[in-house]
Amino acid sequence: MNKLILKPGREKSLKRRHPWVFSGAVARVQGKPESGETVEICSAAGELLAVAAYSPRSQIVARVWDWRKREIDQGFFRARVVAAAAARRELLADGVTDAVRLVYSESDGLPGVTADRYRDTVVLQLTSAGAERWREAIADALLEAGGAARVWERSDAEVRELEGLPPASGALRGPREPMRFTITENSLKFAVDLERGHKTGFYLDQRDNRAHVRALARGRDVLDGFCYSGGFALNALAGGARSVLAVDSSAEALQLARANAELNGLAGADWMEGDVFQVLRRLRDERRQFDFIVLDPPKFAPTAAHAAKAARAYKDINLLAFKLLRPGGLLVTFSCSGGVSAELFQKIVAGSALDAGVQAQIIERLGPGADHPVALNFPEGDYLKGLVCRVNG
Ligand code: SAH
Repeated sequence: MNKLILKPGREKSLKRRHPWVFSGAVARVQGKPESGETVEICSAAGELLAVAAYSPRSQIVARVWDWRKREIDQGFFRARVVAAAAARRELLADGVTDAVRLVYSESDGLPGVTADRYRDTVVLQLTSAGAERWREAIADALLEAGGAARVWERSDAEVRELEGLPPASGALRGPREPMRFTITENSLKFAVDLERGHKTGFYLDQRDNRAHVRALARGRDVLDGFCYSGGFALNALAGGARSVLAVDSSAEALQLARANAELNGLAGADWMEGDVFQVLRRLRDERRQFDFIVLDPPKFAPTAAHAAKAARAYKDINLLAFKLLRPGGLLVTFSCSGGVSAELFQKIVAGSALDAGVQAQIIERLGPGADHPVALNFPEGDYLKGLVCRVNG
């Protein structure tokens, strides 16, 4: 088999079972592996460390499939998908939710494979050369083991460029229609648009946190910044919020949000198209006040290299949010930036409170649900962090 031979001393992270091989760690490539092909990773001393998928165009030149010598074939993918799906069974059995993440990439031993199940449809996103090469085997495994009737591909994430892969979307298994249908999350209905929705169609990682917002919203004036299809806003209404103002810059997202409000018979939200950075300033100038603000912005820092710029953006919106809160008000603020650690995020939010001139406390820390596990050997999987802060009265 083709091999990547590492430089002396560069086997350390693999021995700790970190599943990435960086190009700078490789002394030489033995043989002529193609993009996505399985290679053996060997130390300078010739010890076999892992079998991995080769990605010649990426800085992450190989991603580990397994730590022992084994055949990577259809059976391998079937077994990994079965294991990942089994771990989610309980989540789907609660009778109030029919949308979960089935496969979460490195955390489920399948680097570059994300699969979200929406009712009978699995939406698949492939983001690595290895995953790309095994597309058909992965689609079959999801159909067999994922309990689904169709597999739809949404491999249009920008990160594919880093692997030299073109975008790809559409039906992989099963019918093309319907491209838009309704899912249920904690008894609320949401329309998912397979073709045009963000990411795979819905932000499944916030399921538990949306339920939490529902539980906290009663009687409060709520602002949902970066609302997308209305996940937090509708939960706030369902929880008895007095008023809800929801803001997003995407007209299409707001269309979905309005449709979702109707689906659930939840009137009373004011859906506003705009840039949250500007809207918060305007609300401040108008001296508007809220009891509860949710900020769930997009990924400002995909990697640590973007951390400084991202920090300024987080600082800005959280500072403005603190200014808009009445005494006793709650701020539920998130970062889904892999490049901003939980510790750094807390520091940024502390700086925001300081500059806003408010005294605030963290009363809870939030993360994604159990269908977004973090493998202990892959801390990079731990991207979503949230703080519930209370402004002292
Ligand atoms: N809270 C949502 C997910 C938010 S995703 C949920 O529960 O489903 C981030 C959203 O921010 C996207 O809908 C995107 O359209 C929007 N967005 C990105 N930049 C923005 C900006 N500057 N102002 C307002 N919305 C923005």
